Order: sequence, then C-alpha cells, then structure tokens
Amino acid sequence: MNQDLYQALKARVTGEVRFDRASRLMYSTDASIYEIEPIGVVIPRNREDVFATMEIARDFKVPVLPRGAGTSLAGQTVGDAVVMDMSKHLNRVLEVNSEERWAIVEPGVVQEQLNLHVRPMGFLFGPDTSTANRATIGGMMGNNSAGSHSILYGKTIDHVLEMDVVLSSGEGRTFREMKFEEAVARGGLEGRIADIVRMNKDEIERRYPKLMRRVSGYNLDEFVRNGKFNLVKLMVGSEGTLAAVHQAKVRIEPRPPATALCVVHFADIVDSIRASDIILPFNPAAIELLDDMIINLGRNSLEISRLMGFVQGNPAAVLIVEFYGENQADLRSKLDEMEAALKRNNAGYAYVRAFDQAEQTNIWKVRKAGLGLLLGMKGERKPIAFVEDCAVEPSQLPEFFVKFREVIHKYNTSAGYYGHASVGCLHIRPLINTKDAREIQVMKEMTDEIADLVVAFGGGMSGEHGDGLARSHLNEKLFGPQLYNAFRQVKAAFDPDHRMNPGKIVNAPPMTENLRYGLQYKTL
Ligand SMILES: Cc1cc2nc3c(=O)[nH]c(=O)nc-3n(C[C@H](O)[C@H](O)[C@H](O)COP(=O)(O)OP(=O)(O)OC[C@H]3O[C@@H](n4cnc5c(N)ncnc54)[C@H](O)[C@@H]3O)c2cc1C
Repeated sequence: MNQDLYQALKARVTGEVRFDRASRLMYSTDASIYEIEPIGVVIPRNREDVFATMEIARDFKVPVLPRGAGTSLAGQTVGDAVVMDMSKHLNRVLEVNSEERWAIVEPGVVQEQLNLHVRPMGFLFGPDTSTANRATIGGMMGNNSAGSHSILYGKTIDHVLEMDVVLSSGEGRTFREMKFEEAVARGGLEGRIADIVRMNKDEIERRYPKLMRRVSGYNLDEFVRNGKFNLVKLMVGSEGTLAAVHQAKVRIEPRPPATALCVVHFADIVDSIRASDIILPFNPAAIELLDDMIINLGRNSLEISRLMGFVQGNPAAVLIVEFYGENQADLRSKLDEMEAALKRNNAGYAYVRAFDQAEQTNIWKVRKAGLGLLLGMKGERKPIAFVEDCAVEPSQLPEFFVKFREVIHKYNTSAGYYGHASVGCLHIRPLINTKDAREIQVMKEMTDEIADLVVAFGGGMSGEHGDGLARSHLNEKLFGPQLYNAFRQVKAAFDPDHRMNPGKIVNAPPMTENLRYGLQYKTL
C-alpha cells in the first residue's frame, strides 16, 4: 500500500516525496520526549502540492501531519502519518499592508524572517517564542505560541485574522470573521461548530480557566464572548488536527521606539516570583525568570559564560524585566520607580540595568539559551518536558510554585525553573530518567498530581507549548466530560475520518507510550 501511495504522490506532487528510511527517521522526532516513524514525508513546493497531498491521503485513507520546524515540545509533530513539511518551500511573505497593519504569509515563514521583512516599515510580529530563529508561523498557529512579551501581545490567536486551509476532504476553505448568526445561517461546517458552541455555552463559560495563558484543548471559549465567529480561532492551537493551512493573514505591531532591561537578583526563588506583583503595576513589557540551575549551567558553558557579566554574586534566581518607552529618559524614570518599589519591599539584592542594545541582546541570549543549557545536562536523569508548561493567575504563582516544588521533592528529584513570571507561566522541568521503568511510573504519577494541582488553582496544564502526546490525555480531566465530548464533535466536524494528526488533543494514547528514550534505549 505504501508503495502505491508513494507512486500516487510522486505522480502529482512537484515537490519532494520521501519514503526512504533515513527521511522517515529524520521526521520521527521533534523537541519532545517522543518518537514515531511516519509513513513518509512530502515537502510541498506550492499550494497545489498541499491540495494534491491531502486528496491522495483522502483516497488512500491515510493520516496527514502538517509540520513546520518541528520544535514542538509535547510530541505534536510525530505520528504514524504522511508528514507534510511546510518549512522548506512554503515560506514567502506575500504581502504587507503597513497602513492596516497586516501581512499575508505562507505557513513556513520563520518568525525572525517575518520580523526582518517588516522591520524597515517599523513593525514586528507580536508573539515571540525563544525559537524565533527557526519556528514557523504555521507552527506558532498550530500551537498557539506565545513568548516573553505576551503580557503586551497575548498569544498567536490574538494575531491571526484569516486562514486559507485544506480540509481532510481535500476541500479548500478561507476562514475569516463573521457574525455568529451568519455562521448559523450558513450551515455546513460553520453551522455545526455554531451548534456545538450553543449547546455547550454554559459549560464553556464555567469550565475554561479564566486565564490568558491557556492553550490546551480547542478554543471554544473564543466563540462565546462577543457574538463574533471565526474558525481561525479553532484552527489556532489545533496542533494540525483540523486542517492544513497554506496561507494566513496576520497582524503586525509597531516596534517600540526604545527598550531597557533591569536584571533583578534574588537570594530566594520564591521571593523572585513574589516580586512580580511589585513590578507589574509599572507596566513592564516582560518579566522573565531564570533559576540558579540554569545560571550555573550558563557559567560552565564557554559560549554563554562570556555573555553573563551582568550576573552579580550567586543568585537563587533573577528576573529579567524589560520596559518599552519613548526614549532613554522615559525608560530611566520607569526603572527608577520600579527599583525604588522593589527596595521598599526588600525585594532583590542587585539591580543591573542595560540600555545599550548589545548588552540587552546578550541578556536575551542568555534567557533564550536557558532550555538548551538544561537539555545539555550530563547524566541519565534529564530535565524533560511533560509538566513544564503550567500556568496560573500571576498572583497565585508563588503559592502554586511552592506546592509544585513539594511534589518534585516528594519524588526525590529536582528541576530547572525558568519562564514567564509576568503571566503566571513557569517552565518547570523535573529530572527524570525515561529509560528506567520506575521513573516512567514517577513521570505518570507526578503528572496526575500536578494536573490535580492545576485544577485546584483554576490554571492550565499548558500555557504555550500545547498538548501533543504529553498532555492531550489530560483534556477530559481538565475540561470535564461534556467539553471533552464537544472537542470530539469539533474534530469530527472538520475531520470526520480522524486523519489529521490523530492522537493529539482528543483520543490520545497514554503519555508513557512512544518514548524516544524508553526502556529499550541503551547508552553505549
Ligand atoms: C528551545 C525551545 C524553546 C521554546 N520556546 C518557546 C516559547 O518561548 N514559547 C512558545 O510558545 N513555544 C516555545 N517552544 C515551542 C515551539 O518552538 C513553538 O511551539 C513553535 O511555535 C513551533 O513552531 P514550529 O515551526 O517548530 O512548529 P512544529 O513543531 O513543526 O508544529 C507545531 C504544530 O503546528 C502544526 N502545524 C504546523 N504547520 C501547520 C500547517 N501549515 N497547517 C496546520 N498545522 C500546522 C503541527 O502539526 C504541530 O501540531 C520552544 C521550543 C524549544 C525547543
């Protein structure tokens, strides 16, 4: 069957069709703990290739998995499917309208590429992941990504206006905003989604966490707010499970005239998290946390240690606080006010400022290197991603953090901590050896305990990284049986044969299956 499928794809696709073992292995992993060998790989050269792939997959009844740069942390881009790599050719910025502040892009456009394109016009793309130099807009839409500046720009969902997609039936559709009544009157896909929303309205209002940083599940909450209806809101965060995007219209934002950083040093990590409450009233553009595990790994790295002259003493954690302003004088007065407030509250022991652009770039490089440094840790236990993306209301973060840390200590392990203190989303990566059966069990038990904690705090299991294979199984627990059933109906409305990236968001396998470094893996 695969040979026939290969031949059928080869006959129509003008881009690459690769079913050889080496190619399949190359696409069997992403930045997660999972590994699944795909059926084969298609690298479309243009939108016609995307349509051809979807039509042939429909005829052969095989799953399809659209993929960008494959930097997903929860296993979203691994699966037993035909992987469609959008990053190689579908990567053009097609149009920019600076007056109306939007750009039309293909899904393989990398964030930094879009930023470089619109920079001369004074704009940027708001959401900014640490992977900005490689992650694609298609992948950001798939995961509803967000970054250090989400306190200003929100998540990707807030920046996508329209999408051109191909459904698993092979039908091409354009999704854009309309009135809710119009969707009802239209019937078809729009009508079915409108029905699902109407039948679950109360439960949606009751069960969705009241939190900016929540990306788990499908975004049905976006349809009960203001009488507006836009299927883009369901597509964003759908992790390739609903349709393949071949073009999108996204918002662009004005660049700030000037920026400055202050690195606030703390002797205690809980004090650093508490300090967010003191800083937030001064309207920072970002508050990013780095703990001592990462700082020490950085100091031991030849490349990163050179950039770390700004670290004073041996902090348990630092907060990197950024301000936007009109000019340096404006920024200085903001930093003065914030520093005075911190000192009044005995928060922090050193406050290192950076106005120079090169100095600021170095500090951001250290922040962005955080995860890479953690992943480079020696030893069998690794700081893996499975409960690394919880989010709660920022004011509850100190209490949540303390309880989270108790769970980690209960299982006799430790963790690396970094993330977005400004919006209550901390990345906590417990050290686990997934080659050991007992530790796989610990991973599972810890996940269940953390999920209970998240529910108790009204938080989200994922603030930006998504569900994938690591967290989709928790969606019924997090949203309850009624909304989980609504998610299944959404999936069926878009993709009745369940062929778009199956096993993510709904109908997920256990989180302990398909591990990349599982029991069979042996270090030589
Ligand atoms: C070191 C590191 C740091 C990170 N930091 C951040 C961070 O700061 N903030 C953050 O939010 N995330 C972060 N991530 C996660 C990841 O980088 C983001 O989710 C990123 O936006 C994914 O982009 P990608 O191009 O790699 O997408 P992929 O991983 O290739 O795909 C992501 C999802 O989108 C779907 N998809 C891709 N293209 C399409 C398409 N054309 N049509 C339909 N579906 C599609 C895929 O099926 C998949 O489900 C980080 C990851 C790493 C490894």
